[in-house]
This record gives sequence, C-alpha cells and structure tokens, in this order.
Amino acid sequence: MSSVMMNRPPVAIRRALLAWFRRHARPLPWRKTKDPYAVWISEVMLQQTAISTAIPYYERFLRAFPTVERLAAAPLEQVLGLWSGLGYYRRAHSLHEAAQRIANEYGGRFPRDYEAAKLLPGIGPYTASAVLSIAYGVPRAALDGNVGRVIARLLALPPSFRETGFRTALRNELERLLSRRRPGEFNQALMELGQSVCRPRAPRCHACPLRSWCAAYKEGCPERYPASRPRRAMETQYLAAAWITRDRRVDGTPIQEALLVRGLEEGLLDELWNFPGAFGRSRAEALRRLKGRSAELLPAGICWSRPAGELHHGITYRSLIVHVYPATLPAGGGGGAARWFDLSQLGNAAVSQLTRKIAAAMSGKSGAPTRFTM
Ligand code: SF4
Repeated sequence: MSSVMMNRPPVAIRRALLAWFRRHARPLPWRKTKDPYAVWISEVMLQQTAISTAIPYYERFLRAFPTVERLAAAPLEQVLGLWSGLGYYRRAHSLHEAAQRIANEYGGRFPRDYEAAKLLPGIGPYTASAVLSIAYGVPRAALDGNVGRVIARLLALPPSFRETGFRTALRNELERLLSRRRPGEFNQALMELGQSVCRPRAPRCHACPLRSWCAAYKEGCPERYPASRPRRAMETQYLAAAWITRDRRVDGTPIQEALLVRGLEEGLLDELWNFPGAFGRSRAEALRRLKGRSAELLPAGICWSRPAGELHHGITYRSLIVHVYPATLPAGGGGGAARWFDLSQLGNAAVSQLTRKIAAAMSGKSGAPTRFTM
C-alpha cells in the first residue's frame, strides 16, 4: 500500500485541491465564520443530514442560541423543538450536554485540544478534527464518508480494505495529504469535492481537480470504489396511533389540544413527544398492542373509534403504514405519562415529524372518521 501512496505527490494534489476550492466553494452560512461554536453546530447538523435541509435549521438554531452559554441555559425541550425534523435526536441531546460542559468547564470556549474535545458528549474523531481545523487551524484531518470516498477512489482501494485496513489506509493517506498551513480549508475542500464532484453515483470526473492522480478514474470505473457495505433491507411495519383531543378556551380563545406521550416504541424517538402508538406485523396486531399500551400509559375507560385514515412514513429502516384511531378519554382523563399539546403550536414543540404529519392529516377531522391517505 505504501508504494501506491508514495506515487502521489501530495504537494501537487494539495495545491490543485485548494485552488479548485477557492474557485468553487459554495457560500454556505457556516463558511462565513470561524467561531468554533457555530462550526461545531454545523458539523453536528451535517452528520446524516443533507446540506440543503441543514441550512434553515442551522440559521434558526443560531438565532435562538447565538452563544454556547445561551444553548447551555436553554431547556432541553426547546433544543429538541428546534431540532425536530432533523432526526437522530441523540445529537441534540449531546449538543445540549456538551454546551453545558463547555460553559462550565471551558469558560464558554470550545476546547482547542483534540483529546479534550473528544471527551465531550457526541464528539468523535471526525467532529473534533473538523471543528479544530476549521476554527483554530489545528492540523487534523477530518475523515467523513464523502472524504473517504474521494480517497478510496484516488487510491483505488480494493474491496478487501472495507473489512481490514480500510480506515487506517484512508487516514494514513489523508494525514500525508493534509495541508499543515491550511488544514481547515483543506478539510472543507475535500468534503466539498466529495459532495459536489466525486459523488457516490455518476462522479463528475471531467470537473475534478484530482483527475490526473486518480487511480479509479484511470481504471475507468470510479463507482466501484469504495466497496459498498451491505444495507439493512427496509421492513414494512404497521403502526396504530391514538388521536385523543380536547377543545378548550384559553383567555377566551378556543384551542384544540392533543394528548401526546414521550417516545414511540422500541426506543424510537425517545426524546420527542408522539401520539401514543404501537407497532405490529399486521394492522390488527398493531391496534391490539396499542390498546394494551394505552392501558399502561393512559387512564382506563378509553373509547375507541374506527380508524380515521392511513398514512405512510419512513423511520430509518422501517417503512410504516400508520392507522390513526380517534379515541376519547373518560371525563377528566389525561395526565400521568401523557401531556396535552396545543395543536396549533406543534411547529415549535419537541414533537416528531411523524406527529406533525399525523396532526396535519387529522386536522379538523377529530371525531369525524373521514378517511385520508398520504
Ligand atoms: S477523478 Fe473522478 S473518481 Fe477520481 S477523485 Fe475525481 S471525481 Fe472522484
């Protein structure tokens, strides 16, 4: 391996990459700052999330919490509310915890030391390297999926590397290529190249500044690299969800509230509020399990109606067919593990996307079992 790597002149590659980045870097909002707090927020949001999706979340989040102290002092519910829709809610939880540690232990300044940064909740080698290199100019290479793909193609790493020394080989090559003078710019350039040019499918090799050194391009089949991991197949599951609402007046204004519980089932969406629900391999099984769960979560004496409709929703590998069952509580019911939420305020609450989807579909249909599909 080392002889293959040594055939690539790092200085020339680095220069070509940085020159390309200066011409083609997109004006993304987090590129306008070197504030370690803002860089950190953007890096966490961009894990598992497309750039176009992350931009409005990033802007809203920084408007609500412009400093690490403001984030540390905010209630977790508010943080989760602003995160709702981005998924992988553990990230928001960790961000909040880490902000409190940074505020209390580091005077509100993201630590400059790599090992100290990695000890913060939710911060692994990639995030620590990205933040330190971009914000402080610390020479650390940031290896994410996009960067890994570019390097795997540059070297034409054989599929066996996926199991054995794949990450070590990538990391060694990255360290060799890294610009010690401009590590932040270098890391961002490789990320950008992986996102916009060296794409998983149909890489735009004709527009690539690394083409003259790229082994996969020379072989004529860049898409073969890196060898893909087997993906978990999608599973269809049924979800029965309870639509329990009440009408109230607050300061003379009529509002409609829905009863929500924390989490869905099987540890899913644990941080967020959801309509009480249960999974099943069939519609009947899901409903039976929902009634069983409701007996634990909600007061006795619930009166169930026929399903109001069906909608479809994906969560990780689950393809959900959701049936929504309007139900009424006995007089004075509520409380316990459940909480009433004003339906017109769900946009700002710590609720899941699925909850918003059900609320939108059901809006105005409570008590009237009109069928809907989405
Ligand atoms: S030449 Fe093609 S395969 Fe090689 S790094 Fe550039 S875009 Fe990727």
